[in-house]
Amino acid sequence: MTGPVLDPRALARQLEGRQLIDGKLVASRSGQTFDVNSPATGELVGKAAAGDAADVAAAVESAAKAQVAWAKVPARQRGKLVAECGRLLDEHKEELSRLVALETGKALRTESRVEAGVLADAFHFYGGLGSELKGETVPFNPDMLTMTIREPIGVVGAIIPWNVPMMLMALKIAPALVAGNTVVVKSAEEAPFAVLRVAELMARILPPGAFNILSGMGPECGGPLVAHPKVGKITFTGSVETGKIIYRAAADKLIPVTLELGGKSPMIVMDDADLDKAVAGAISGMRFTRQGQSCTAASRMYVQKGIHDRFVTALKAKVDAMKMGDPLDETTDIGTIVSRQQYEKVNAYIATGKKEGGTAHECSAMPADAKLAKGLYVRPVIFTGLPKDSKVVREEIFGPVTAVLKFDTFEEALAAANDSEYGLAATIWTKDLKTALDGARRLQAGFVQVNQNLVVQPGLSYGGVKTSGLGKEATLEAMLEHFTTKKTVIINMA
Ligand code: ADP
Repeated sequence: MTGPVLDPRALARQLEGRQLIDGKLVASRSGQTFDVNSPATGELVGKAAAGDAADVAAAVESAAKAQVAWAKVPARQRGKLVAECGRLLDEHKEELSRLVALETGKALRTESRVEAGVLADAFHFYGGLGSELKGETVPFNPDMLTMTIREPIGVVGAIIPWNVPMMLMALKIAPALVAGNTVVVKSAEEAPFAVLRVAELMARILPPGAFNILSGMGPECGGPLVAHPKVGKITFTGSVETGKIIYRAAADKLIPVTLELGGKSPMIVMDDADLDKAVAGAISGMRFTRQGQSCTAASRMYVQKGIHDRFVTALKAKVDAMKMGDPLDETTDIGTIVSRQQYEKVNAYIATGKKEGGTAHECSAMPADAKLAKGLYVRPVIFTGLPKDSKVVREEIFGPVTAVLKFDTFEEALAAANDSEYGLAATIWTKDLKTALDGARRLQAGFVQVNQNLVVQPGLSYGGVKTSGLGKEATLEAMLEHFTTKKTVIINMA
């Protein structure tokens, strides 16, 4: 496997049944595999290796051995190697986009290529930060040189989800590696191949064992990774439920964790907002092009009563114009839900919303292509008129379903927005500076935007409050806080 392989089916076949341990693509110790099917056509994309505790042990041993030498590589040099991975991943951007589109059902043009771009960007960003692993000197005593040193933790375990698998992996592994740690990743069951290809490419540049990747079921493969005595840190993105299991297991070993969990992100639209911009922001914020499968999805839209009806009409018209279809087709805006389990969950929420008294405005048309008849397509739904205690308003759906709720005063909207167990992201749309600032200060969320709805970017601190998680990602500080320990050294010269 040298140059880019643009046929994602051929690439998946080359990666079938493999994991990356100690720099080599190898089968699982048990020989077991599990099927990964395309959510658009139902076809078998490939059989993925079903890793278990024996594979975890092999990968962690390799990572622990490699870490001793890796930590001795000068920090800037480690950064240069990580940036070099970014360059190679950039060269393979198109094949990675196609592979992730095939396995997850995310549309190539609107989503998968965007993800592959941020993947390489994260490596470039962190690759430049090697020399920032600085300590401090402390004016403790004139006869003593007192300083702090940043040291790597050792072996980092990373457990990742399927919705943006390459990008979310990059935001964990690039800082971990630059800081001198080695890494073992457990990929998500639904999306093991694109991240495995990323690993295979990185293995051309990094020493064997610096970066290992396993695929397998959560409890059977992720569980032993968290529990392994040589894993000194866990960084996780996924559901609140699994985050709590991991936090408990990490507590048993007293190791640090970073948890990026769910969200139910509010969007507040004031009467004075620019309607066109707010509607465009609702489309991107709700991640309709990713079928709403985002922890930051703007799935609660609080719209002031003077603009509410026009907002709903304009939003529906825009979503109606979006094309659902084959994820690999360049003209497709919206692909499929990732798995049958998620598909059923999303449809159950739509049924619940209707029972709860909401009006379901169904958008876009189902794809006409017969080969997509088995595809896990869900028409985007905009609910109006739901009561505030509706499950659709309170719970994370992870599908193309949003609730638009009418409000009267700003205070009422703020109270409703903050009345949630989650606190990941939020947006406010207004032309009034005071309202914008007031909202930015008082909204309980880790990532607040006014009059825009950008996705996470390297360099901008990302992470939630309340049950949305613990710890922030994507910045220099995240690398220092989450992937190093601080040692105090005092040299007595008296
Ligand atoms: P989702 O609902 O988005 O699939 P999960 O939290 O179930 O979210 O999965 C996110 C990641 O966590 C996946 O890689 C999954 O395999 C892993 N996982 C699930 N259960 C466990 C567990 N008990 N221990 C460790 N990892 C797990």
